[in-house]
Amino acid sequence: MRIFSGIQPTGRKHLGNYIGAITQYVAGQDRGEAIYCVVDLHAITVPHEAAALRESVYDTAATLLAAGLDPERCIFFRQSDVHEHTELCWLLSSVTAFGELNRMTQFKDKAGAQRDLVSAGLFVYPVLQAADVLAYRANEVPVGEDQRQHIELMRDVAERFNGRFGETLVVPELRVPPVGARIMDLQVPERKMSTTGGTEHGTVLVLDEPAVVAKKIRAAVTDSGSDVVRAPDKAGISNLIEILASIRGTRPEEIEREFDGSGYGAFKQAVADAVVHYLAPVRERYQELRADSAGLEQTLANGAEKARAIAADTLHDVRQAMGVGPVR
Ligand code: ATP
Ligand code: MG
Repeated sequence: MRIFSGIQPTGRKHLGNYIGAITQYVAGQDRGEAIYCVVDLHAITVPHEAAALRESVYDTAATLLAAGLDPERCIFFRQSDVHEHTELCWLLSSVTAFGELNRMTQFKDKAGAQRDLVSAGLFVYPVLQAADVLAYRANEVPVGEDQRQHIELMRDVAERFNGRFGETLVVPELRVPPVGARIMDLQVPERKMSTTGGTEHGTVLVLDEPAVVAKKIRAAVTDSGSDVVRAPDKAGISNLIEILASIRGTRPEEIEREFDGSGYGAFKQAVADAVVHYLAPVRERYQELRADSAGLEQTLANGAEKARAIAADTLHDVRQAMGVGPVR
């Protein structure tokens, strides 16, 4: 069983990333051969600063290690260190329909948010993402709900490739957590919590100080009622219920039962306390790890070497199947 996932180094990671993706990465280390990368090549599809990107890779790497990724039990690397990803992206672009890419909601959302240039890279993003996963012949991709459409696309791409050129690639399965697959922005609970598209006060960062975390949660937008129950017209409360259920490892129904009649104030305080407790140890470990950039660089370089060995094998087979280069 091989597991693969990638995470962007754009800005600092948030509670949605933590609950939707990072906790699944950590658990994946016990379930199979786990491979994770920091996808700097995806981050350059929107405007960025070169020096800041390099630092952000270390920020994200330290966050994941602080959360429990163990380089002895998984392969952890920086995407751009393994050139096979970009080569496979080009090869797969020939079996990806333009019309499919045109239907991707993430592209529409992100293109709409750009002030000037909408890069071709932003449009091709899902093909690079397909290459990331398919290069490792991964069986499973742990992600948040927002990535469902991209995983379906990569499955179609793998199937189309195999249909045209013979069985070469593994068609991966999506894995989203049963609770917390789509954490919403605390200020605009109709929108997902997001690194680049969210509100400042509605986004709880993994590295926020405890007082800031608590303040953001207590200030979460809720409806004018008082019942702690999930409902379509109670997006804010529904989101807080999901957050608490996920942190406690229980079901949302249990949370509704426990806070029946307690009112929003007490409930929000309980969520704030739980999130503070949940993130505080990660923040402490982060500070230690982040101070050693050279150590982080070494960890990523070691991971890249192991990753390359696997990806190169797939690339060999893909090139042979497509008739690219001499027979080897
Ligand atoms: P951006 O908004 O710029 O795309 P992001 O916040 O989505 O950034 P990514 O690095 O793209 O961050 O996502 C990393 C992982 O976190 C992905 O698996 C994604 O599905 C998951 N994820 C992102 N946002 C949420 C969310 N609000 N709830 C649950 N999972 C999420
Ligand atoms: Mg994203």
